[in-house]
Amino acid sequence: MKPRHLILASALAALTAGCSGGSTTTEAETTTKTAQADTTSTDLQQKLSMYTNVRLTADLSGLSAKERQMIPLLIEAGDIMDKLFWYEAYGKQDSLLNALNDASAKQFVQINYGPWDRLNNNEPFIPGVGPKPDAANFYPHDMTKEEFEKANLEDKASQYTFLRRDANGQLITVPYHVQFKEEVKRASDLLRQAAGLADEPGLKKYLTLRADALLTDNYQPSDLAWMDMKNNRIDVVIGPIETYEDKLFGYKAAHEAYVLIKDMDWSKRLEKYAAFLPELQRGLPVPANYKKETPGTDSDLNAYDVVYYAGDCNAGSKTIAINLPNDEEVQLKKGTRRLQLKNAMQAKFDKIMVPIADELIADDQKKHITFDAFFANTMFHEVAHGLGIKNTINGKGTVREALKEQGSALEEGKADILGLYMITQLHKKGEVSGSLEDYYTTFMAGIFRSVRFGAASAHGKANMVRFNFFKDHGAFERDAQTGKYRVNYVKMGEAMDKLSELILTLQGNGDYAGVTKLLNEQGQIGAELQADLDRLSRKNIPVDVVFEQGVDVLGLNK
Ligand SMILES: [Zn+2]
Repeated sequence: MKPRHLILASALAALTAGCSGGSTTTEAETTTKTAQADTTSTDLQQKLSMYTNVRLTADLSGLSAKERQMIPLLIEAGDIMDKLFWYEAYGKQDSLLNALNDASAKQFVQINYGPWDRLNNNEPFIPGVGPKPDAANFYPHDMTKEEFEKANLEDKASQYTFLRRDANGQLITVPYHVQFKEEVKRASDLLRQAAGLADEPGLKKYLTLRADALLTDNYQPSDLAWMDMKNNRIDVVIGPIETYEDKLFGYKAAHEAYVLIKDMDWSKRLEKYAAFLPELQRGLPVPANYKKETPGTDSDLNAYDVVYYAGDCNAGSKTIAINLPNDEEVQLKKGTRRLQLKNAMQAKFDKIMVPIADELIADDQKKHITFDAFFANTMFHEVAHGLGIKNTINGKGTVREALKEQGSALEEGKADILGLYMITQLHKKGEVSGSLEDYYTTFMAGIFRSVRFGAASAHGKANMVRFNFFKDHGAFERDAQTGKYRVNYVKMGEAMDKLSELILTLQGNGDYAGVTKLLNEQGQIGAELQADLDRLSRKNIPVDVVFEQGVDVLGLNK
C-alpha cells in the first residue's frame, strides 16, 4: 500500500505543539468555531453512509496465554501512533473536535483524522475550512517548494523529521523522536513489555529493536529483524511508515500500527509464489534494461487476521494488504514481506465488492466475481511491488527519488497491473487454479471499488489511469442500455502487457515529467464513469468500512 497533494489557504494545521521555538498560530480554533454554525447534519449523514461498520474479530483460540497478554499492550502502543498521526495529518485533535457540537461531524472527523473527506479528493466537509494543505502538518504551510529546495539542512528530506521555522523564520528540522519525546517513550516501554512476554526469539528481538527505533528514528535494524522473523504468530507493524500523507514531496512518513495474528495455514499456501519472482521478473514485457535487478528471494507472503488498526492505515479507506518495509536497502538485502489481511478483505468483499458487481458487471459475467479471485488479485498486487526496478537506468538515482510525489501513484499502478500479469503467467504454468475469467472480471470490479476512493489517493489515481487505458484498448465495453460493463478477456490481456511496459519504462527512466503528464491526463474520472459511480451511492453501497475494534471486541481483558 502506499500511495497519497494541494494548496494551502488556511493555516489550519499549523499549530503550537509542532513548532519548536518557532512562530506559532492557533487559527484552527477560530476557523472551526466560525465553521460549526453552518455544518449541516444531513450532508454528514450522507457522507457517513459511505462507511459500513464491521466488528474486527479473530479466532484467538490458538494463542498461548502470554500471546493473549501481549495483544492489549500492542493495542495501547497503537493508540499512541493514532495520536501522532492526528498531529501529522492535521494538528491538534482536541481543538478541532471540541469546536464541533454535531455528533455526525465529530464522527466523520474521526474517520478522516481531520476536516477533509479522504474519500472525496480531500474536500473540506466542515464549512469555513480551506483545502487540505499538501504539506499536511509536516512542513510550514507558507513554505514553498523552492524555499525547501534551497534550504541547507542535511536531514530535510528525511522520512523522520518535521520542517518548522525558528524564531527568525528560518527553516529548521525537528526529528520525530524529539517532537514526540514523551509519546515514543511510552510506546517504546509498551513494546518492551510485550517483548518480555514473547517466547518466539525472532519476535522478542524485533519488538526490542522496534522499541529502540522509536527513541532514535533509526528503523533499519528493526526492519531487518522483522524480515528475519518467520515463526511468530503475533505481529505488529508500528511506527512512521508510509509517506502518502506528505503530498508536497512524499518524503515524510506517517505513524500507524496494525496488530496482527498470523494465519499459519494460509501462509503456507502463499509461500510457494515468492519463489517465482525471479523467473517472472525475467519474463516482464519490457526491454532487458528495465528488468535488470533481481528481486529478493527471501521475500515472504503471509495471511493475517488484523485485530487493530491505528493512525495512517485507519484513516479513510482501510488497507487490506501491506508490503513492507519501505527501506530500499533492506529490500535489496532481504526482500519484502507481504501481509494479506484476510478478515478485513472478506469484510470488504461481502459488503462492497459483491453489491458493486451486481450493479456494474454484465449479468452473464457476474459468476466470475469470487472471493478467491479478489484475495489473489490483492495478494499478487503486493507480490508485484517486488518486480521491476528500484533504481533508474540513467543515473537519476532511485525511482522513488526521481519521481518524487508522483512516485506512489505510479508504483501502485505498477503493482496492480503486474499483479494481474503474475496471475496470468502462473495460471499458464498451472500454479494458480480457477478460471482466468474469474481473476479478470473480479479485477475489473475491483477498479470500480477503488476509484470510489476518489482520484486523490495514489490508489485512486492509479486505478483511473488503468481504467482509461483499458477503455482506450477495448479491454471492456459498457452497455449504454444497462450501464453495465463487459470484460473482453483477450483485449484485457493485451492492454495489460502494454500498460506494464509503459509504467516500467517511466519508472526506469525516472521520467517525472512523463509521469506527471500521464497522471494529469489519464488520472481523472470522466462524466460517464462518475454517473455510474453515483448510481452505487444512490443504492447506498458503502465505499469503505469502519472498524469496531479493541480489547473489548476481542474479549480480552487488560
Ligand atoms: Zn501497493
